[in-house]
Amino acid sequence: MSHQKFTLILQSREYVTPRVMKFTFVRDDGLSFDYLAGQFLTLHIPWEDRVLRRSYSIATIPDGRGPREIEIAVTEVPNGRATGILLDLQPGERLHATGPFGRFVLRDDPPSRYVLLATGTGVSPYRAMLPALGDRIAQQGFQASLLLGVRGPDELLFAGDFELLARELENFRFEPSFSRHRPNGNDIGRYGYVQQQLAEINLDPERDIVYLCGNPIMIDESVALLKERGFTNPRIRREKYVSSN
Ligand SMILES: Cc1cc2nc3c(=O)[nH]c(=O)nc-3n(C[C@H](O)[C@H](O)[C@H](O)COP(=O)(O)OP(=O)(O)OC[C@H]3O[C@@H](n4cnc5c(N)ncnc54)[C@H](O)[C@@H]3O)c2cc1C
Repeated sequence: MSHQKFTLILQSREYVTPRVMKFTFVRDDGLSFDYLAGQFLTLHIPWEDRVLRRSYSIATIPDGRGPREIEIAVTEVPNGRATGILLDLQPGERLHATGPFGRFVLRDDPPSRYVLLATGTGVSPYRAMLPALGDRIAQQGFQASLLLGVRGPDELLFAGDFELLARELENFRFEPSFSRHRPNGNDIGRYGYVQQQLAEINLDPERDIVYLCGNPIMIDESVALLKERGFTNPRIRREKYVSSN
């Protein structure tokens, strides 16, 4: 899918966790924005005398009629240049953008278990993949486990969407990890970094396909572990949220 340049109008914005704001945009030309679930777009954000290009994963759940609304989830970064501007953006204001970009998408895989790891807003691509994941798991003998790492339960971004699929399909599991919270008793989730949770599941390099999205340290540590366990590159798919200049 070739990328395009277009202008977005902010429709609405809301905090969905204490440190993450969800923005809903539409194109100002009224056209639909076509993308593959898992891809990202790049916003062109005016800052001082230059334009910062910052990428954000598309979180919109496709509804089959072509996505008109474009949702992204943005983590507040202390002293962040682009995020400082974005968090002040008001409904009705416009931004230039390009996209879609990226190869972090579901592929034509044989029946497998998808192990989907994310930190924070790195879970957005998996939200966009939900209908496709649901179709695969329901029909083709696939399984998927989503391991989401956040600081504590109040940061579980889009958890309701993942819990819904987990209730509908027993072969879809949603398993949070908390780096700064120790769950008690029957609470959901576990204490520790999400890559520690990866180390403890019964990984199978012949059957599992692992997606990694978000914090670069989490991704590097996970890749090292997966290589030790015999995973080859085609079975490891990654999207690092690195900051540009
Ligand atoms: C393919 C791709 C997809 C991305 N998708 C998302 C997304 O869906 N949601 C999202 O919030 N971000 C996402 N990012 C990161 C995003 O593009 C920006 O880098 C981020 O918003 C910070 O921009 P900034 O200009 O405010 O920070 P900068 O001014 O560039 O950085 C300020 C300081 O904060 C540090 N920093 C940067 N990002 C973070 C962070 N997330 N947490 C803590 N410290 C940080 C930097 O290293 C630097 O020291 C993605 C990045 C890539 C490459």
